[in-house]
Amino acid sequence: MCMVGDVPELNIENIEMDLKEYVCLDCENKFKGLGKSVICPACKSSNIEIVSAEK
Ligand SMILES: [Zn+2]
Repeated sequence: MCMVGDVPELNIENIEMDLKEYVCLDCENKFKGLGKSVICPACKSSNIEIVSAEK
């Protein structure tokens, strides 16, 4: 008898929202945005940069 109880359990917790953190280069306001055309909610500037958050 050969019992194979080798069930790999992959926890796929990769369901994250496409929410990224941005910083405004004009007023240094940090905010979270999503989508392609993200603007600063404080000064309405599109001069923003994605804050790279490494896990
Ligand atoms: Zn701003």
